[in-house]
Amino acid sequence: MEGGCLCGAVRYRIEEDAPPCYACHCTDCQTHSGSAFALQMPVFASKFSIEGEVLKADSDLPSGQTSTIHACAKCLVRLYAAVSNRPGLFTVRAGTLDDSDRLSPVAHIWVRSKQEWVVLPQDSRMFEEMPSEADWFEILDTANRLQAG
Ligand SMILES: [Zn+2]
Ligand SMILES: [Zn+2]
Repeated sequence: MEGGCLCGAVRYRIEEDAPPCYACHCTDCQTHSGSAFALQMPVFASKFSIEGEVLKADSDLPSGQTSTIHACAKCLVRLYAAVSNRPGLFTVRAGTLDDSDRLSPVAHIWVRSKQEWVVLPQDSRMFEEMPSEADWFEILDTANRLQAG
């Protein structure tokens, strides 16, 4: 899968076919995206490559970790974040994928702070806040994806 910023100066590639993505409705994601929620796709750093000049900015997470967002140096579109306690994983802003119309979130998290007008499909997996580590592992199909290499 490939994606990039608006101006075309930065392009990235994910060496995995359609990794799962989720929607985060937390207020930080609302602020970050300037929108109602963020569509996030965790990908293994080893399967992610990027070309073009990026700017980085750190922000503190409630967990005490630091999230480093990477954005195009020219048009400032945010492309992915790296979190300090998960060095092997990047979180791609899934709306920047070329084929973003193929995406369907496997879960909605921080539903507690979702904007009221956002109505979720009834069969969605929803979490009031952050899912547990075990739920996370299962939702994101991490074990199978790791095994696939
Ligand atoms: Zn750009
Ligand atoms: Zn969030």
